[in-house]
Amino acid sequence: MSDRELYCDSCEGVVPFEAPPCADGHGVDCPELVCTGCGAAVLIATFTFRAPRLASRRRVTPHRRAA
Ligand SMILES: [Zn+2]
Ligand SMILES: [Zn+2]
Repeated sequence: MSDRELYCDSCEGVVPFEAPPCADGHGVDCPELVCTGCGAAVLIATFTFRAPRLASRRRVTPHRRAA
């Protein structure tokens, strides 16, 4: 289950989008989302998912040592 709120041109507002059953074999990495308001499908760029992962990785880098 992956619900996201995105702007929909058809609904003219921010509405929840949900991942539809993928017919292309993308699995959990499927970049397709469907508007729950009007049913319009949109493709989202994969780099929007990678950005937060890179940011959190850098924070994890430990600089302190326990004595
Ligand atoms: Zn797909
Ligand atoms: Zn819509």
